[in-house]
Amino acid sequence: MSAGKTKGSKKKATLTTKILVYMVAGLITGTLINNLAPDVAFVQEYLVGGVFHVAGKMFIQSLKMLVVPLVFCSLIGGIVGMDDMRALGRTGGKAFALFMFTTIIAISFGLFLSISLGIGEGFDLGASASASFTAKEAPTFAQVVIDLMPSNILGSMANGSMLQIIMACLFIGIALIKSGADGKKVASGIESFNHVMMNLVHVVMSLAPYGVFCLIAKTFAEQGIHLIVPMLGYFLTVVAALLLHFIGTFSGLFFVAGLNPLIFMKKMRSTLLFAFSTASSNATIPVTLEACETRLGADNSVASFIIPLGATINMNGTAIMQGVATVFIANAYGIDLTAVDYLVVIGMSVLASIGTAGVPGVGLIMLAMVFTQVGLPVEGIALIIGVDRLLDMLRTAVNVTGDAATTCLVAKSEGKLNMKMYRDPDAGSVKAELDIRRDDMSPAKK
Ligand code: ASP
Repeated sequence: MSAGKTKGSKKKATLTTKILVYMVAGLITGTLINNLAPDVAFVQEYLVGGVFHVAGKMFIQSLKMLVVPLVFCSLIGGIVGMDDMRALGRTGGKAFALFMFTTIIAISFGLFLSISLGIGEGFDLGASASASFTAKEAPTFAQVVIDLMPSNILGSMANGSMLQIIMACLFIGIALIKSGADGKKVASGIESFNHVMMNLVHVVMSLAPYGVFCLIAKTFAEQGIHLIVPMLGYFLTVVAALLLHFIGTFSGLFFVAGLNPLIFMKKMRSTLLFAFSTASSNATIPVTLEACETRLGADNSVASFIIPLGATINMNGTAIMQGVATVFIANAYGIDLTAVDYLVVIGMSVLASIGTAGVPGVGLIMLAMVFTQVGLPVEGIALIIGVDRLLDMLRTAVNVTGDAATTCLVAKSEGKLNMKMYRDPDAGSVKAELDIRRDDMSPAKK
């Protein structure tokens, strides 16, 4: 192994380890504040509501700042770089099929595990139902389809409407291909800007340890581990189903595709830490994209399309929570669900995930849509709100894993997974990339 490689992997390990260390420090700090200083105004106002809140939010904003320009440039670059337009349709079709397949497996795990364990039976409703929850109206299927088409590209970008942005990129990409020399000029400008954005991702990632510390410290200072206690059965069932899906389903699919799942999991570590601390698949898009393209070896034409699409329509972890929550609330209220009801739950949660973006807490809104369909009391969601933030963090990590796994699997099937890079443990070191950038910019190289 070359000296450069050893140096690169050491630096990469340093950033991931640093994020992890700061995360644990945030967890301890938050838990201590929650237990020892819940009423100390200074700590609550200036530390939790001040420093942690402001710095954590700024970190999330900085990630979000990258999402739209990165998806726009990267996806257009990907489409223009596609050798064959039919490949785009095939890539989309395979990704969609995998998204649906894994979501159905995920929710079935959730339902199966919670029905077998009988969670929620004999639950004391009076004890925890102090909060309330009001449902939002589900958009009609027709509206979901109409909303795919942007009426104002800048408006879609300003609102961060991912599906509309993807649609706009598809059209612009195709038009660029048809525009000959002019199209090439514009495409090369977009590609250069994409390079700049990727480097901006690295700059933001280097701030991650501090952002993660503040986010985690604030969450645990406000939530407190003790909230889990009355909901332990529900909480642990969701966690068990998440783990089962994370390890079982994804490893199984990787084995079938002839890929070593351990390499995938290892290279996804820092992305998972981002997903966990931001609880947002959307905000994690830049990091997922970076991991898929520069560490796992997925071609830009596949990753730039599947990752933003998946962040919006593919939510395996959320589907698991919905399965478990349905059984839990039905049992807690003593309502019997039929096999048809369970099928409706599966269908609804797949549909609900298509129309909702991957942002914190959206899983509960989707759950309300599912409950309305099967006639479960929507106010029952109030029972699980208390532990939802923690579960949101965990399920977002599984959601993001689903997007990245689908990217690798589709890329492999299309011959667009660089196997050398996939197997190379040192591929895509963040700091090494920064070193390359510095080299690129050094006067000697100009
Ligand atoms: N926070 C999740 C995500 O961004 C969605 C959810 O389950 O609430 O993927």
